[in-house]
Amino acid sequence: MPTFAKLDDASDQDRSTEPPGNSTTLHTTADRQLERLTRTAQRLTGTDSSAILLVEGDHQWIAASAGHVFPDTPRTLSFFYHALQRTPILVEDTLADPRMRHHPLVAQAPGIRMYAASPLLAEDGTLLGAFYLFDHRPQALCAMHRTCLDELAGVTASAVQQSRALASMTARNTTLMEKERRMLLAIEGSGTGIWDRNVAADEIHYSRSWKALLGYREHELTNRLMDSYLRVHPDDIDYVRATIQAHFEQKTESYEVEHRLRCKDGSYIWVSSRGKVVSRTPDGKPLRMVGTTQDITAMRTISERLRQSAKLLSDLSSEVPGLMFQRQQRADGTAHYSYVSAGIADMYELDPEEDNTIAPEAIHARIHPDDLQTYLTSFETSATQQKPWQLEYRVMLPRQGLRWRYGHARPQRLEDGTTVWHGLITDATERKRIETQWQALATTDSLTQLPNRHAFMTSLAAELARLQRDSTRMAAVLMLDLDYFKSINDRWGHATGDAALRHFASLLRRQLRQADVAGRMGGEEFAVILHGADTAAAAAFARRLQESLETTPLQPEGQGPIALTVSIGIAAMYASDGTPELALSRSDQALYRAKAAGRNCIEIG
Ligand code: GH3
Ligand code: MG
Ligand code: MG
Repeated sequence: MPTFAKLDDASDQDRSTEPPGNSTTLHTTADRQLERLTRTAQRLTGTDSSAILLVEGDHQWIAASAGHVFPDTPRTLSFFYHALQRTPILVEDTLADPRMRHHPLVAQAPGIRMYAASPLLAEDGTLLGAFYLFDHRPQALCAMHRTCLDELAGVTASAVQQSRALASMTARNTTLMEKERRMLLAIEGSGTGIWDRNVAADEIHYSRSWKALLGYREHELTNRLMDSYLRVHPDDIDYVRATIQAHFEQKTESYEVEHRLRCKDGSYIWVSSRGKVVSRTPDGKPLRMVGTTQDITAMRTISERLRQSAKLLSDLSSEVPGLMFQRQQRADGTAHYSYVSAGIADMYELDPEEDNTIAPEAIHARIHPDDLQTYLTSFETSATQQKPWQLEYRVMLPRQGLRWRYGHARPQRLEDGTTVWHGLITDATERKRIETQWQALATTDSLTQLPNRHAFMTSLAAELARLQRDSTRMAAVLMLDLDYFKSINDRWGHATGDAALRHFASLLRRQLRQADVAGRMGGEEFAVILHGADTAAAAAFARRLQESLETTPLQPEGQGPIALTVSIGIAAMYASDGTPELALSRSDQALYRAKAAGRNCIEIG
């Protein structure tokens, strides 16, 4: 029995009576076919009216009718809508059915008394609508007419289904075509050329923009594949052919190659050509290949320039002696080397990382422990004062051993507080050696190798400064003058006189302790600082020196021994001495007295 449970449901009002927008095609050919089917049904069964109701999504509408013309009112519609069942329905007398008897279509015109419906079902079981028969007379449809209704419903269902499939396919195609059109426009607009190659026919078709890339107009190029190869630069042709072949043989996913193409005016442009075989024979032979071509001349020029400047930079940094570096120090104090040149192998005996960076720890481990703190502090100072960094420091290297390095760099402050230095580290070992030599030359007496007057005075000043810092300390200053030296020169010659000076100097040096300092003040005059000594200790020292001079006379080659004596004046140095010369002058006065006392004497000032 049919169910009309929702016959007068108020929600019927919500149902649209219009077919959905995307099914407008149903109102053309298909609808006319459906009209014919309703007429056939009416005629075959001899009933008053026949109608086909279609549903799609939330929409339903009377697609065709014969006999009575049903007004498109929601209530009228609900009469059909609620009759939509998956099984055929037959109401022999609507007035006998309490749920139908008050329906306008029953109670008023056309006064439907017999009501029969057969569902329109798609192959997958979707309900597409229903086929209806109505009559103003109550009656039982005969079996043949029922079969006729069911058959017509089946035919209608398949017509609707086909029509819908066609409609959605057309819609899809239209969308696809529109998409393709837009894509082609975009590709053409971007200056990319498009080509389409018919492999079997050895033909290739080019888009207008492809031809424009080479300066040709639309009609100016042939479609012969042979001609297309003639435009490829002779140096590139083998590579291009091989790349295409590899793709034809399915060794690559797609074809992609950069090469030169000759333009209409004979010049060459660099292009990037990409493509893909889009159809093949069942045994894999390529039939059709499509692709794009892009002018990359400008890009290649830029990248070539970039490559050259990168090469110049790397040549410079590897050829310039020393290590070029970029050091970065963040606001939180952490530092890293963001670039080191190849010179790091020589300057630190280190290998940089692949990206030319190096961990700061690796460098710190090479710096002489005594210089590391100075090194780190010097960068700190440069960062805080934003002043150039400059430092001479020692490194300890596995192969080269102890070496001097000179570094200088300019700091730059970035917005985030990071300081970046760009600088150079060079070898300073040789310069340091020469400097040391100069230093020695400037401070040493060449004849005796003792400190000269200037160097001695510097030591004397340092000794006074020490005493002044710590008044419990002591120091004695001695002035020494060889006796009758003039006569040695006169008697044995100047060279022997020089030998005598060296002889005395070596005896003097032997008497000194580590902290004592002796110097040649000029001629045959010498001076000594005895660190930590009082005048008594100094007198003992002086005596030992005189004794050693006595027991070790000068022994010039081929001559007898030459006796030498020395007069010595001693003075204590005091923290209260205003200048170092004061103590020296006191000892000089003592020396004077020693001379006056007959020479080879010791006097304390
Ligand atoms: P006194 O006992 O009073 O010190 O007599 P003296 O002869 O040692 O003193 P004087 O100052 O008269 O002579 C110093 C001499 O030392 C004069 C100078 O020719 C000599 N003399 C100075 N420098 C050198 C030197 O570098 N080499 C040599 N061979 N002689 C030098
Ligand atoms: Mg003298
Ligand atoms: Mg003398």
